[in-house]
Formats: sequence, C-alpha cells, structure tokens
Amino acid sequence: MEYEAVIGLETHVQLSTKSKIFCSCSTRFGSEPNANTCPVCLGMPGSLPVLNREVVHRAIKVGLAVGGKIAEWTKFDRKNYFYPDLPKGYQISQYDLPIVVGGKMDIVVEAGHRTIGLTRIHMEEDAGKLIHGENLGDPSSSYVDLNRAGVPLLEIVSEPDIRSSEEARRYMDKLKTILQYLEVSDCNMEEGSLRCDANVSVRPVGQKEFGARTEVKNVNSFRFLQKAIDFEIKRQCALLEEGGSVIQETRLYDEKSDRTISMRSKEEAHDYRYFPDPDLAPMVVGDEWVEEVRAAMPELPDAKARRFMSDYGLPEYDALVLCAARATADYFEGAARGAKSPKVVSNWVMGEVLRVVKEKGATPDTIPVTPAMLGKMVGMIESGAISGKIAKAVFEDMATSGKDPEMVVEEKGLAQITDTSSIEAEVDKILAANPSQVADYKAGKEKLIGFFVGQVMRATRGTASPDMLNKILKEKLK
Ligand code: ADP
Ligand code: MG
Ligand code: ZN
Repeated sequence: MEYEAVIGLETHVQLSTKSKIFCSCSTRFGSEPNANTCPVCLGMPGSLPVLNREVVHRAIKVGLAVGGKIAEWTKFDRKNYFYPDLPKGYQISQYDLPIVVGGKMDIVVEAGHRTIGLTRIHMEEDAGKLIHGENLGDPSSSYVDLNRAGVPLLEIVSEPDIRSSEEARRYMDKLKTILQYLEVSDCNMEEGSLRCDANVSVRPVGQKEFGARTEVKNVNSFRFLQKAIDFEIKRQCALLEEGGSVIQETRLYDEKSDRTISMRSKEEAHDYRYFPDPDLAPMVVGDEWVEEVRAAMPELPDAKARRFMSDYGLPEYDALVLCAARATADYFEGAARGAKSPKVVSNWVMGEVLRVVKEKGATPDTIPVTPAMLGKMVGMIESGAISGKIAKAVFEDMATSGKDPEMVVEEKGLAQITDTSSIEAEVDKILAANPSQVADYKAGKEKLIGFFVGQVMRATRGTASPDMLNKILKEKLK
C-alpha cells in the first residue's frame, strides 16, 4: 500500500519585546536565575496582570503579514494544569477567540509552489524552566528559574496542509523569514525563541479522511524537525502495514537515537478546563489600529522577490535566495544600484558574500566589504579594468583588509593588461621558450592552447585580458 503523510505544525515564537506580557519584568536571556521576576510572574496572590500593548501590536503585524483576519473581539483564557515551572497553576493563553484567524503562506519546494493554510495565531505567556541537578552534580535536586515565566509568545497553528518533511522545513524557513522581516522575534532556535511541535499522520493515497495523528514535541532545530517527521512517517506506515493502528499520543524526539518515543496519551482541550481569565478584560482592537499597523508594514519577502525579478531582471532562484534574509536583500540592493548587470552582482552576493558571512558567523551588514565596495568592484569588471578571475582575489583582499577595490588593485598591481603590445610581448616570450609545444600545436594538438594561456597568465599574474590573450595567441600560432 502507498501512504501519504499529513502534517500540521504548531510553532511557538518568543517575541523580542523589552518586557514580559503581563508585567514590566525584563525578557533578557541569560540573566541570573530568577532575577527577572516580580509578584505577577511569580504568581503571588493578589497580584494582577496588565497586558503589554506591544505584544498585541506584534501579533497584528504577523497576522497581517500572513493575510489573516484580525479579530474585532479577542480575550484571554486560563489553561489549567500543574507543572513546577508554572507558578499560577495555569497559563494565560487564548482559546476560542484568538487575535488572528486564518491566513496562509506560500512556500517553494523542489516540485514548485505550495500554499499552506494557517488556522490561527494566538498570544500567550511562556512558562519558566526547570534545571535538573544531574547537570550540576546534584542529582537529588531540581531547580526552577522563572525568568522566562511570562515572556510573550505567539502560537502559530498551521492547517494540516503539509505533505512531507521537506515542506515542513520550507514552511519553517518561510515563517522565520517573515518574522525576521517584521522584527518581532530573534528567531534564535538555540535560545528557544522559535519552537515547533509537529502533528503527523499517514493515510493510504487516495483516502480522504485523515489518519490518527501523533504530536512530536521537543524538536529544537530545523534539521531535527525534518528527521523527526521522517522517522514518524516511517514508524506509522510500518505499523499500518503490520495491520496495527496509530494511537493518538504525544511523542518526544530523541536526537541521539534519531527516534520518537511515546511520552503521554494525547490531552484534549477539555482536560485543561479553559475559561476566560477574569483578571483581563476582553479587548477590542479596532480598525484604526489595524490600519495604522498595515500602513507601517515593511516590504515582505514575497513582494520583495517579485520586485527583484521585475526591477533587476533576476531569475526566481536568485530572488528567493537574496530575499530569504532582509539583510541579504538590502546588501544586494545597495550593491546593484547603478550596476550594468544586476545578475553579476547577484552572483557575487549569493557566492562570495554569503560564503564570507557564513565563515565569519556574521551578517551581511557587518562584513568588511560594504555593498558600495562590491558595487564598485563589479563596475571595474564591467569596464574591463580587472578580469572576473582577478576580482576573486580583490574580493578576498577586501574581505580581510576592508580596503577600497581600486586601492587593492593599485597596491597589488592587479589591473588588467589590455594594451596589445604588452600582451604580444609576453606571448612571444612564451612561444619562444616552448618550441616543442608550438610544433605539436601546429601538428594538430589544438588543446595546447590552454597550456599557452596558462603560461602567459602565470607570467602576468593573471592580469592579461583573457579575450585579447586568446585572440593574439591564435593569431600568432596560425
Ligand atoms: P491540539 O491543540 O490539541 O494540538 P489542534 O486542533 O489545535 O489540536 O491541531 C493541532 C495541529 O494538528 C494543527 O496544526 C493541525 O493542522 C494538525 N492536525 C490536525 N489533525 C491532523 C491529522 N490528522 N494529521 C496531521 N496533523 C493534524
Ligand atoms: Mg497541539
Ligand atoms: Zn514579572
């Protein structure tokens, strides 16, 4: 039997607001344990939450970016459960009236474009963190750090529209890109500011109804997300093949063994006894606020990519790579301004610039080669002042020294030799020094042209104009 996977993702995004969602404590990561706490986020009796307006602002931003509907009327609910890192015994979340309903995202996979629907986006508070003593040489104790308790989260729930681990990966890439364009979150997976649970089921190809799903938690990188989903699809298919059935449950992904492990039977919404939080008044967002946010929206990745294709004539592939991060797109535009061939600039950005960025663990806006320097260097290639090959060396120099390309070329004597007589002189020398190769060439071994080109290039340290050199060589060897 052939099976098809059905996947829906629940993503938690930590918002990078200065203060927490219901109190004025700092959200700073890496502070002394429990330094960023107050009676509200410690759940002390008599303390009351006050909603951080900026959290709502960012939720609206994200909602508009994905084409969702901003609720006119929204409220907070209590999700009740006990856990030692949850001092109140409930989490303030949103249940039936989330801030955003619907929306969608376009993703590009190998097979082409796909649209993934979004179900909802809601606001909630994060819980604290438990630190288990085994890691501190104190196996009999566990410690609780409540710095994270009350940090604002958005939960973004997708429709079960995803059909493979590759699509899941692309969905997360795209979501991260949009969140970074909007500057609402650091999206730092290591620090836990982007977390994702994968709901996975399989069904025989052609069957309409969905199969029973499992929810895989604890996936903390995009690579592990893909592996966890692949494992889960295989496990469920094998189970069905044996005549068994999938039990709806929550599973954990274990990176070391690359497996998912049963954690608990699936809880249902009614288990949490959701009810409206009486400490927080329901909220009317209002068109005025929504329109204000809409007017201030930055250009988003899809729109930017389309513009790069029409304004700069770039292929779709280039446009998507460049627009995957706002800093890369800005870098490209900075360098391409006034360039004769934006495609050449794009090649340099996708190749050398991103390589240096990766090597230095930097961002495009912080490397020593500024967009203006790259633009100038590409201009020098276009005018014939340097060859494309020499440009690699010039770029390398700029990337360490931060010097202007003209200065590098002058200091290192890298200007292209374009005057016929000096190239002719070099060619004559090489031909005179290699009589047997010249004879072989004339006898029909025309491949030897490469040998002569190489010799002249070596003698001129790569600065001879390749076009002129080829012409002169062929002429002289006739
Ligand atoms: P819960 O809050 O209990 O996890 P939801 O109804 O909010 O449940 O759904 C959570 C996620 O599960 C959504 O992303 C949804 O698309 C996905 N989902 C629902 N049914 C299936 C299924 N049969 N297979 C895969 N994913 C599913
Ligand atoms: Mg869930
Ligand atoms: Zn607090």
